Amino acid sequence: EREMASYAERTKASQAATERARKVMPAGVPSSFQAYDPWPVVVKHAAGFTMVDVDDNSYVDYDMGFGALFAGHMNPAVHKAVSEQLADGTLYVTPCELNAEVGEILADRYGFPMWRPTNSGTEATMDAIRLARGVTGREKLVKVEGGYHGHHDEVMISNKPGLDEAGPADAPHSVPQSGGITQGTIDDVIVIPYNDPEALDRALAAGDVACFIVEPVMENIGICLPDEGYLQAVRDICDKHGTLLIFDEVKTGITAGYGGATNQLGVRPDLITLAKSIGGGFPVGAFGGKAEYMNYITDGTVLHLGTYNGNPLVMAAVKATLTEACTKPIVEETVARNGRLVDACQAIIDRSGIPAHTVRFGAKGCITWSASPVRNYRDYKATDFDLAFAQWIHGINRGVLLPPGLDEQWLISVMHDDDAAMRYATVFDEFVQELV
Ligand code: PLP
Repeated sequence: EREMASYAERTKASQAATERARKVMPAGVPSSFQAYDPWPVVVKHAAGFTMVDVDDNSYVDYDMGFGALFAGHMNPAVHKAVSEQLADGTLYVTPCELNAEVGEILADRYGFPMWRPTNSGTEATMDAIRLARGVTGREKLVKVEGGYHGHHDEVMISNKPGLDEAGPADAPHSVPQSGGITQGTIDDVIVIPYNDPEALDRALAAGDVACFIVEPVMENIGICLPDEGYLQAVRDICDKHGTLLIFDEVKTGITAGYGGATNQLGVRPDLITLAKSIGGGFPVGAFGGKAEYMNYITDGTVLHLGTYNGNPLVMAAVKATLTEACTKPIVEETVARNGRLVDACQAIIDRSGIPAHTVRFGAKGCITWSASPVRNYRDYKATDFDLAFAQWIHGINRGVLLPPGLDEQWLISVMHDDDAAMRYATVFDEFVQELV
């Protein structure tokens, strides 16, 4: 309560800005993810790892655009490339040389020969799923409970179902997360628990599933790591049933380490989706895969369209992000910096004996408020949401910017220096000391 009052006191201009926006926009926000009580922080400026709100509070940003800003806010290389491109125009709807250049960069980095750009992660997963259906001639898809893959209808199933409607843990129901989703769509989507290869085998047994879409490391319920051997088992089971495997690397794509989770974890999918951090802060997505599948687009069997696909402004941002801002040595240095932060947080937990643990993957980390590991959505639901909220409000009042809730994890961008990264641990230590 004291922290909520302090938040309200510190963010009066954000309150006024939100009240104004609520008159013209549902919940006063452009995307429903951005709404929270009593009102969100409204930002006027961002650079590097810093964000400044309309009340002139300064924050170290650990959210970094839900992980889209691995390059940092206004990375100089991205800024320069985009500024130069602006002078040559922003949209041609006929190809530019940057398209092939970006395709080559993605092919080199992720090891898949063919790519198509999109404008968001939502489009990338939507188009990859359509492609999988076109290739296999099958209609159903399988996803994991708690997995988020964007906001098109077919993946808005069982992202965060209430336990009262989610069904048994080993055979979850397909729960629509929004009004407006048809029964036909719900019936087409089979939901299984993560880290459960047998459940996948059962779901694919009828031979009518086009694809299994999964984040190799789940990053929309904090961070949930695959069990040893899980991803290889998934690969083998998909092969056995002729189902395409889609790795959704929208979040892990470059934050996992150079070459994404696919290369870090050594299991190759059939199709891969990227977005967020490849764009250095610009709206983009991409999907790629084996030529035998991508050629269904070449020959027109499957259509992939979009006015803004591959526009030169965003392609310039992608190229600068991947070749200048987030090169292999820079990514490795950033992952190491994140490792030091995770170690510091784990040491605080070990010292205090609180029921929490850290989880890390690449340049990301999180505090999970349970003593035991989170292996799937049901484990995540059993963590302590009240303590997580208390840590969030404590942090935001001290300049640690993250969204409330347990969905997001922190991201150390290539522009966070050691001090900026460690600020999180310092504030976390203060919180833990108040707790014990
Ligand atoms: N896939 C994953 C794993 C995501 O985390 C997200 C966004 O959070 C998406 C897809 C959708 O991306 P976008 O918000 O760019 O549409």
